[in-house]
Parts: sequence; structure tokens; C-alpha cells
Amino acid sequence: MDVNEFRQAAKQAVDQIADYHESVSSRPVVSNVQPGYLRPLLPAEAPLDPEPFADIAADIESKIMPGITHWSSPGFMAFFPCSSSYPAAIAEMWSNAFNGAHFNWICSPAATELETVTLDWLAQALALPSCFLSGGETHGGGVIHGSASEAILTVMVAARDKYLAARTAHLPDGEEKEEETWRLRSRLVALGSAGAHSSTKKAAQVLGVRFATVPVDEEHGFALQGPALAHSLDELAAKGLEPFYLTTTLGTTDVCAVDDFAGIATALAPRAGTAAEVWVHVDAAYAGSALLLEENKPLTQPMAEFHSFNFNPHKWMLTTFDCSAVWVRSRAHLISALSIKPPYLRNQFSDGDLVTDYRDWQIPLGRRFRSLKLWVVLRSYGLRGLQAHIRKGVGLCESLETKLRQRPDLFTIYTPARFALLTVRLAGDDAEQVNRRTEALYEQINAAGQFYLTSTVINGKFAIRVCTGVATVQQEHIQKLFEVLVEGTEKLIGAERSAQSPGKDSMKMNGVKANGEARDSLETAGKASRNGVAR
Ligand SMILES: *Cc1c(COP(=O)(O)O)cnc(C)c1O
Repeated sequence: MDVNEFRQAAKQAVDQIADYHESVSSRPVVSNVQPGYLRPLLPAEAPLDPEPFADIAADIESKIMPGITHWSSPGFMAFFPCSSSYPAAIAEMWSNAFNGAHFNWICSPAATELETVTLDWLAQALALPSCFLSGGETHGGGVIHGSASEAILTVMVAARDKYLAARTAHLPDGEEKEEETWRLRSRLVALGSAGAHSSTKKAAQVLGVRFATVPVDEEHGFALQGPALAHSLDELAAKGLEPFYLTTTLGTTDVCAVDDFAGIATALAPRAGTAAEVWVHVDAAYAGSALLLEENKPLTQPMAEFHSFNFNPHKWMLTTFDCSAVWVRSRAHLISALSIKPPYLRNQFSDGDLVTDYRDWQIPLGRRFRSLKLWVVLRSYGLRGLQAHIRKGVGLCESLETKLRQRPDLFTIYTPARFALLTVRLAGDDAEQVNRRTEALYEQINAAGQFYLTSTVINGKFAIRVCTGVATVQQEHIQKLFEVLVEGTEKLIGAERSAQSPGKDSMKMNGVKANGEARDSLETAGKASRNGVAR
């Protein structure tokens, strides 16, 4: 392809992408292909000779599109959103054009410097404490990673090395210090609440440290509380273990719980500033975007005591995947844990500490120019435009909650609308019946294809999650979902009643009493269940 062919093909692709966006609401949300659908559609080997680009482009519609699940569809209320926007899409085109590995400043000074500036803008917009700004008193700052999981693993490395250095600081350099460091390493424990995302456990697994779960309860909305944390710390200490790291969450994945940050700071205060200080990370991967709203800003106040914070603008802030923003209160901890300087990476700027080399703030060496799309999004929408987008998602979820509450005969709100997420269960006589009905309705709705929802199970209770953060969702889709929920539930309950009434055939199947109609929907549900749960 030469530059003129590129002009033509790329312009055509933009038109096709625009058509795709316009048509997305009329497509079934979740791809309904069977596993292995693609191989028979493609040749067994890569082509030896170049193919015309028009043929390749045509296969995107005919072969790839059927295997796409449409995350920007207004029927997509599963997981958390993965948002896109036209300004971000254009910025990604430029990022691709400047295509480079950007591991240090001289690789493209704009890539580094724009990242520092936009992350300072963003930290201010979220009202993060000033310790997280690049010019702050603790020499902190922000960096863009690909995912929250990567952010959590990276800060856990910094936390580990900080902890080991502090706990062995009293020993002179030498064999004894080395031995003590390795002994302590085998005793390290990373902590997260039962509501923390699985990425914290995975990071502990990767680093080869223990992981302990702090329990949460329904009474406190599944949010981590200070006393429960203090209790866990005491238990670990009694076993001679070394808790060094905690993930707290602003907006847990299953129910959007917000941990009690002030209580957590109090529970950890006796260790703060000592060699046993616990690194506290705030994982706000999804709900961090809601800190753009004035009413949520007080949540960040206790974070001045904490060590790091991450959120994914690619989830709810109209910035295309991937973009996970991470801030630390002290960049020295990241750099001393991750910096390696072989001779081929040395240059006059980096050696003089004149510049930031973001390769020392992350695990990979190379890095994408991700700040470009963040900058373009912040400018194209303005903070007011982004606030309006977040507020819309929040309002839609609240309106769904209001509708559901008007039918207490059918539904119970399990966790109320918070940050555009609610969880709901069906009404029923006992816990077992409620679980069974809720799961059956969930699978029916996903099998029907108009909406895509996910579910969660907490303390044995099955609940349907509805997240209304996707930008294309409008009030009409909320009304339609409500109608689908009502119709499905009435049908389920009706089917149970007719199965139980004398004179009709009733059958028991997988512990579910169902007539023919309900059985059919349960069978299709088997297909839907591979769509998975929230995490
Ligand atoms: C989505 C989510 C994650 C995982 O995000 P990735 O960027 O996919 O790694 C972690 N924590 C929370 C709270 C999340 O909502």
C-alpha cells in the first residue's frame, strides 16, 4: 500500500466505522457465534502473495463482525463499560502515526511531557490530594499504564521493596541484611477486602507473596471497615507474618462499594511512619471517573494518608482502551524498585535527572503514546462535558432503581444505584427460591440478545448487576430493560404456579420445577451462562 492508496483506504475505513457506530444499537449485543467459528472461514495458512486491501476490508464485515460483542451498544449493561468516543478515536489515529516505543524522554519528548501535564490536570479534576501531583511536596506524580491489574502489580512491587528496605534499615549492608531480606520476603502478606478485584490476588501470586482477604459484610454495604482490617492485621502479626500492602477500593466490581477510607487510615495509623508501615493503594478502576462530580470529591480527603491511586479513563471517561491512570505519592519508591540502566539506555538527558523516564514507572520497557487521547478527550469535552456524561449514567441507574422499587412484588434492590451500578434480586419465599428465580431470569435475558447483563454471587446470594455507564444508553433503553425484567419475572412466577397447580404435568429438572416453556428458556440459558459473571 502506498501513501495514495492509504489516503483512499483509510478514508473509506473511517466511513465504515462511522456507519458501524450508527448501526450499533440495532445489532444483537453479544456475539452469538459458536466456539471455533472462525478457523473454517479462514485459509489454513497466511497468504504467500499480497492480497488486495478491498478483499481484506470486506472480510472485516463478513468474518470478524459476527464475532464481535458490541461494548458501545445501549443494550450493553454488563461488567463495567469500556468507553469510546470520536475524539479519542482520532487521537489514537495520531498515536498510531507517531508509532514508537517511547520508553524514555528522548524517544519523543512530547509523549513524556504531555503525560505528566495531563495526569496533573486529571489529578486536580478528581480532587486527589496534592501529594499525587508531579510538583507536590512528596515528589509524587502520575503515569499511564495499560490496565488496573498492571497498575496494582507495579505499585505492589514498589510497596514490597519499600517495606523490605525499611524493615532491614537497621542492619549494615552485607550478608546478614541480605539473609534478613530474604527471610522477610517469605513472610510478606498483601491484603485486600473480599470485595477487592481479583487483580490484587493475582499480583500477589505473580510476586510470590501471600494474600489475605479481609471480610466485609452486608450491613456495611460490603465496604471494608477499619476494625475488620485491624483484626486481620492482629491475626497476621500473631502468626509472625508481615503485612506490607493493602488494596482499598472505591467502587468494587460486584456492587460498587466504597471502602471506609477514614476508618482504614485510623486502623493503620499506629504503623504509619514506622518500619511496619502498610502501603495503601486505592483501586478506583471504574468509579474513579465519578470523582469528577462535585458531590463525590470529599471521598478523596483521607487519601492524603495513602500511597497510590489508580483509575481507568477507558472504563467510564470516554477514553478508548487502553488507558489506566496511576498516581503515587512518592515516585522514588517506584523508580528504586524498577529502574535498570544498561549502557544502551543511557543518554545525556536521562543521566542528568533533567527528565522523567517513564520506563522506570512500569514493568514493560516500551510504551504507547496514550496521553494523547486523554488530552484530546479532556479538551474536546471539557470537564463540564465529562461531568455531564457521568451524571447521565448515574441518573439513568437511579431511574431504573425507582422503577424497580415500584414493583416490590417482583424485585428487591440488593444494592442501590451507586456510580451507575445497581444489583437486583427477584422476590421469593426463601433464599433458595430467590436465587433460583434470579438466575433463571438473568439467563433468559442474556439468551434473548437485546440486553447483556452480568451477575454476581455474594455470601451465597445471586444478584443481577446492571451498569448504565455506556454512553449510548438513554432513558428509552432503561424503560425497555425494565419492561423486559417485569415480563420475564411475571412469566417465570406464572410458570412456577402452573407447574405446581394440580391436574397439570409438572416436572423436576436440575432442582427447578418448570413447565415446557420455562424449560426451553433454561436450556438456552446454558448457552448464555458462558457469558460469565462480573469478574
Ligand atoms: C475493572 C476493574 C479492575 C481490572 O481492570 P483492568 O484494567 O482490566 O485490569 C480492577 N479493579 C476494579 C475495581 C475494576 O473495576
